[in-house]
Amino acid sequence: MTDCLFCAIAAGDIPADVIHRDDDVLAFRDISPQAPVHVLVIPRAHHANAADLAAADPALAGRLLAVAGAIADQEGVAESGYRLVTNTGSGAGQSVDHVHFHLLGGRGLSWPPG
Ligand code: 5GP
Ligand code: ZN
Repeated sequence: MTDCLFCAIAAGDIPADVIHRDDDVLAFRDISPQAPVHVLVIPRAHHANAADLAAADPALAGRLLAVAGAIADQEGVAESGYRLVTNTGSGAGQSVDHVHFHLLGGRGLSWPPG
């Protein structure tokens, strides 16, 4: 078994509330939601962060964004507005070293985020 939490979720070894799954991309609800809609969108393949993913497989990076957009539609936040965030490095709050986009919506989101 992998020691990467999100690889384990992608493999089905650790349960998650999965709302989208295809050959390359998985989306599931965050275990500690910060907004009424808080979904994590990840590639099934392991890449540490968004820059590494984009360097290794730019098409897959684009697919993640497309899936995020489709989920925003599905979750009913495309019109009200939503935020896609990817933390990179522990100083920015990255706690899982498998690239993930947070899709946040369903409430007002302040900017700058603080
Ligand atoms: P980061 O801090 O790396 O940007 O985001 C990691 C996110 O993963 C956090 O928002 C955290 O709540 C979420 N998370 C951590 N462990 C689990 C888990 O086992 N299942 C799910 N669904 N989310 C998790
Ligand atoms: Zn991984």
